[in-house]
Amino acid sequence: MELSIPVPVLALMERLEDRGFEAWAVGGCVRDRLLGLAPHDWDLCTDALPGEIAQVFEDFPLVRAGEKHGTIAVVTGRQPVEITTFRTEGGYRDHRRPDWVHFEKSLREDLARRDFTINAMAYNPHRGLADPFGGQADLADCILRAVGEPEKRFREDGLRILRGVRFAARFHLTPEPRTLAAMTALAPTLNGLARERIFGELCGFLPAACAKDFQTFWPVITAAVPALAPMLGFRQHNPHHAFDVYTHTAYVVAGVPPELPLRWAALLHDVAKPACFTLDEEGVGHFRGHAHRGAEMAREILGQLHAPRALQDRVATLIAYHGVTRDLGRLPGDRPLRRLLRRLGEETLWDLLALDRADDSGKGTPSDPAAFDRFEASLRQILAEQPCLTTRDLAISGRDLLELGLPQGPELGRILQTLLEEVGDGRLPNTPEVLLRRAEVLHQRHNANRRKS
Ligand code: ATP
Ligand code: MG
Repeated sequence: MELSIPVPVLALMERLEDRGFEAWAVGGCVRDRLLGLAPHDWDLCTDALPGEIAQVFEDFPLVRAGEKHGTIAVVTGRQPVEITTFRTEGGYRDHRRPDWVHFEKSLREDLARRDFTINAMAYNPHRGLADPFGGQADLADCILRAVGEPEKRFREDGLRILRGVRFAARFHLTPEPRTLAAMTALAPTLNGLARERIFGELCGFLPAACAKDFQTFWPVITAAVPALAPMLGFRQHNPHHAFDVYTHTAYVVAGVPPELPLRWAALLHDVAKPACFTLDEEGVGHFRGHAHRGAEMAREILGQLHAPRALQDRVATLIAYHGVTRDLGRLPGDRPLRRLLRRLGEETLWDLLALDRADDSGKGTPSDPAAFDRFEASLRQILAEQPCLTTRDLAISGRDLLELGLPQGPELGRILQTLLEEVGDGRLPNTPEVLLRRAEVLHQRHNANRRKS
């Protein structure tokens, strides 16, 4: 079997071998090449000690920040290649970094410290594939299997549990029973992990997730985001909903395009439903205010996970407004849609439409696509007319108003805003003459009001 390796990486391997060391491509890049995918980076491992690696590549720019743990990055080709001395490691008392690493002479020990069999393979063009734990067979059979004793491995480093969920989603793997049992049993240890690492893994998982992953890994997912736990099995008592809130959420996540803001919004769109639940006299469930409360909760949850502020804002907006495209699609006329477009912008409306469509088809009851189709048709039509969305799109600017003799100050902005509303609603054409005349009227009215008061 031959795996293709980029020329600059191959050159580093050849150089180490020429100096009498072993050099192997290892981990994710071997897994990806076996799957026919393009790895996003290449890692090498070797029996050369860090000092020896540095010596072999003394004519290259080196990054030596990880040297204590055995890693030296050699800058070549498109990105640095990390070269790591064979090592074992132990004791993850802070659940972050190993307390110690030992450099080893054999590849096998290095592979044994790795998390899953599919990640514990190494390859060298002359020596072939090193696969002591059956990673290639597991990859072919779509099995996620911890290397060694699963419980012990997840106790060493709880992040492996979430990495497992991410790899299972990404490569459509089924966890082997003992691996799954250990992931489930030790899910509560995620509690002790740094929040930003949990966030990072979830961001890797969500775009790849399908509904089945939520079923298989519910103990891990609800341990990673405890606010999801009340959704488990939460019945909606509503004829439009066949599923509990958690199961519905799984379908919505899988149903939106695989972009982070949308996937996070889908994950959290109904997070406030359990808290907002009421039952009317007919025994029908309602969730009044769950969109707004959900947006607040999402901000809190993402804040605790140290998510970037921009993502928090975007997700909160999508959750606060979810359902609006269905509501507007049922209304006659397009004035409310024009207003919403000015308020939220085009991109957000497309995202909301995708979220609402997935929300609708994730209910498990016959869905009603007509409202969304009408919303989409109206939106397309409005956009085709090249609408005024901000005051910058108006045919006149603040400078024109100054030239007209209006005073500098907050009134200028207010007049432009009023013009935007009137043009946006289709009450005024967006032409300079009309807008200047209207601005004058507004200004005179403003002065008259001031004199009165
Ligand atoms: P990705 O494509 O997401 O980068 P990867 O498998 O390359 O996946 P990395 O985080 O880049 O993941 O790690 C490279 C390799 O290091 C892994 O394939 C695995 O062998 C090993 N590894 C990484 N993190 C751990 C861990 N927490 N425990 C054990 N082995 C790990
Ligand atoms: Mg990698």
